[in-house]
Amino acid sequence: MSVHKAIALIAHDQKKDDLADFARSHQKALARFPIVATGTTGGRIADACPELQIQRLKSGPLGGDQQIGALIATGDVSLVIFFVDPLTAMPHDVDVKALMRLAIVYDIPMALNRATADTLLKALG
Ligand code: PGA
Repeated sequence: MSVHKAIALIAHDQKKDDLADFARSHQKALARFPIVATGTTGGRIADACPELQIQRLKSGPLGGDQQIGALIATGDVSLVIFFVDPLTAMPHDVDVKALMRLAIVYDIPMALNRATADTLLKALG
């Protein structure tokens, strides 16, 4: 990818508004990094934040979460922000677990809610 490793953005459907709002409020900080996102999330972020360069991968249920996992394994992701919906059962639930596992294996910061994501982005300066 590029000099800067990417920030990965993902949100389950019930959390997409929240992630779009989060990205809007951190647009300046995010604009310093390449952004990768799962398909639908990437579209929502692109609409909310025209300044951002976003590489859209497949939709999460069709393998997008696993593509982000692969980018972690190849050293191309420095931070994962995944707004998870804890109240809805999902067919690709195992993919969230797989992504968390790779973030742990490669020691990549991973925010699963807005409070953590805010803290991490503030730390980026
Ligand atoms: P989506 O995927 O951005 O394509 O909706 C996210 C997910 O549900 O993992």
